[in-house]
Parts: sequence; structure tokens; C-alpha cells
Amino acid sequence: MSEGIQALLTPLTAMIFAVTLLALWRRDPARRETLAMGAGYFFLSIGFFMSQLNPDSLGRSNISITHIPYSIGAIMVIWGILYRVGIAPPLKTMISIAVLGGLFGLISQMFGDSVEADLYIANSTYGLIFSVAAVLLSQRKNTDFIEKIVLAVLTLNAAQFFIRPALSFTFSSEITGDDYRDSVYYGILITVLALGSMVMGLALIAACIKDQLNALHESFARDKLSGLLTRHTFEARVQDAIAKARREDVQVALIIGDIDHFKQVNDIWGHQVGDNAIAAFGSLVLDTVRDTDICGRIGGEEFCILIWDADGKVARSLSERLRISVTGLRIEGMGESTHLTASFGATGLEAGDTYGELFGRADKALYHAKNSGRNRVALSSDTIEAPARRKSDPRTGDTKAA
Ligand code: GH3
Ligand code: MG
Ligand code: MG
Repeated sequence: MSEGIQALLTPLTAMIFAVTLLALWRRDPARRETLAMGAGYFFLSIGFFMSQLNPDSLGRSNISITHIPYSIGAIMVIWGILYRVGIAPPLKTMISIAVLGGLFGLISQMFGDSVEADLYIANSTYGLIFSVAAVLLSQRKNTDFIEKIVLAVLTLNAAQFFIRPALSFTFSSEITGDDYRDSVYYGILITVLALGSMVMGLALIAACIKDQLNALHESFARDKLSGLLTRHTFEARVQDAIAKARREDVQVALIIGDIDHFKQVNDIWGHQVGDNAIAAFGSLVLDTVRDTDICGRIGGEEFCILIWDADGKVARSLSERLRISVTGLRIEGMGESTHLTASFGATGLEAGDTYGELFGRADKALYHAKNSGRNRVALSSDTIEAPARRKSDPRTGDTKAA
């Protein structure tokens, strides 16, 4: 490969990453982190191009000129990495480090005669920005493979900014302003920078693709109208949660809620208003539960919640809160004096319960609440030999409407 093409490999690769990340952002414009990373790689690519193409006559000042695109690029990429995982990016700190680094670099060039000092300053600046991000990211619990890779790559990139100058100066002789681009230092710099930016770009693209696939998966798992999980996904996640609760010795409880006389809502106000009621009920459930709870729409106007770390008593009080809130819901298209009501059945998980048995008890309690006049909450312990409305399959734990 000719030297020219080799030299352009880093800027071109960075540009390809920029285009790829920006294309990913176009697919999902709400993801500002992908835009920030794409724009960041664009600036890094500009910096790499400038480093490669600037005439030799610029000498040391090249380091100061490229400081601008490198700093902007690094800050944008780091902003995206942190924002993506919900960490507030320390923008002011990063900009302060970049500005101070730029100023020290200028002073060093104007009053000093050491290229090593210029390069130490520039590298320390980028190293510090990357280190801040690596420290923040490392405080997060990462169980996912791609998240571990992103942290590892970020940490290695931060470290190389400090290690590389020291190593290369050890092996290279005194560098003068004019020939630093022919030095061993420069060769190592280009190779390590190229590798670092390439591996980091690949890790970030993988992370962004993973986010989009997860979002797609989640959108398939959710019922469009209510925003809750579909029955199939709900049941699968509840079975997993029950197994986890047993492993970790945590109590869980199940609530089934069913809108009262919903058929009449459709008959009187129309199907669209019925849909609005289902959507409003779904939003209410999502706003009321905690992140650790699992909520699904398991039938037309029936909703189910698995509450984590809760017994029957907690389930009753959550159901009561939901019941009261439902009566205050404003449903678009429904007369203002008409109020929706719902009934709830709840039960706690008992030793040896299958999902089907747990569901069966909650359903029996719901049936009891309906029979006792609706707009109320019943616990399984309130039921007196009421027949279950549904049969559960003892082999799979699946439940079917009777
Ligand atoms: P109860 O108080 O005993 O629960 O009576 P109910 O009328 O609420 O119950 P029933 O099971 O008799 O009727 C439920 C109705 O829900 C019947 C069905 O047309 C309606 N439904 C099911 N899915 C949807 C939907 O997605 N949108 C709308 N608008 N209606 C739905
Ligand atoms: Mg109903
Ligand atoms: Mg029903």
C-alpha cells in the first residue's frame, strides 16, 4: 500500500464511522447520542485529515490547529457515550479541559522550544477528557457484553494518550519542529490513533445498533393501544420474574384489573371512545407502578400487574390507588359526568405456585369483586369458594378464557 493511501486510512475510516452513525441517527432521530457520536467522528475525521494533509511548513503549529477539531470531536463522542446510558455528560468540565489544553499548547509553542512538551499537552488534554468519561462509565453496573466492550475501549483509549507519548519519546531521539512527522513518535501515534479510533467506532456502532434492535424488540412486545406488554410477552416475563423471586427470596404479588361494564362504554360512546379508555387505563397503570413491576394487557379491557417485592397487602393498596384513580380519569369523547370504574383481584405468590395457580387465584378474586358490586378490590383471601372464571393448564401454567 502506498504511503499516501496508508496515511489517509485513519481519516477515511473515521469518516465512514461518521456516515454510518449519522445514517443510524436518521433511522431514529430521537436518539441524540447517535447524532452526537456521528458528528463527533466527523470532527475527528477532519482532525485526522488536517494532521495528514497540512503542509510541513506548519510544523509545530499543526498541533494547535488540529486541537480544535480533535477537541470538538472528542467532546461530542464522549457526550454521546455518556448520554446514551443516562449519565449527565460533564460538558463544562470537558470544554474547560479542552480550552485550557489549547491555551497551554499555544503558550508552549510561543515560549518553549520542545515539541515533546506540545505533544504531551495535547495528548494529556484528550486523555483527561476520555478519563473523565471512563471513570463516570465505570461506576455503572455493566452486565451486557457490548457495554463492557465500550467501557474497555474507552479506558484503553484514555490510557494510550498518557502511555504513548512517554513510550515513543523513550525510543525516539530528540525531535525538532520540522521533522516530527518523520519520527518514530509520529509513526506510533498514527498507528495507535488509527487502531483506537477504529475499535471505538466499531464498538459505538455496535452499541447504537443494539439500542435500535432493543427498541424494535420492545415495540413488538408492547400493545400499541395501552402501551403495556402484550399477553404473550407479559406471561413470559412473569414466569421469569417468579423464578427470580424464588432464587432471591423476594415476595411478588399479582393484580388483575378489569374495566366495569366496558361493553356499555362501546355501545353508548362508540368503539373509538372505548379505545381511548383502554389507552388512558394503560397510561395510568404505567404511571402508577415502579420500574421493577411488569404490566400487561391480557385481554380486551383486562390488565395484569406483577408487583415485585410486595405481598397481598401491598397489592391491595396499589389496587385501591388504581381503582380510585380510574374514577378520576378523563376519557376523550366520553361525557364529563360519566366516570369509568374498574374492579381488581389480587393475590400474593405462595410456595409452589405455578403462574397458572397464581393467576387463577387473582382471577377468582376479581370475579368476587365483580360479583360484590364492581368498582372494588378483592384479595384471594376474601373469596369464599367462588369458581375460577378461567381454566389454567396445569402443565404449562397458561391460562385460557373459559
Ligand atoms: P364487566 O363489568 O363484567 O367486566 O363487563 P364488561 O362489559 O366490561 O365485560 P365484557 O367482557 O362483557 O365486555 C368487554 C368488551 O370489551 C367487549 C369487547 O367488545 C370490548 N373490547 C375488547 N377489546 C376492545 C378494544 O380493543 N377496544 C374496544 N373499544 N373495545 C374492546
Ligand atoms: Mg370488563
Ligand atoms: Mg373483561
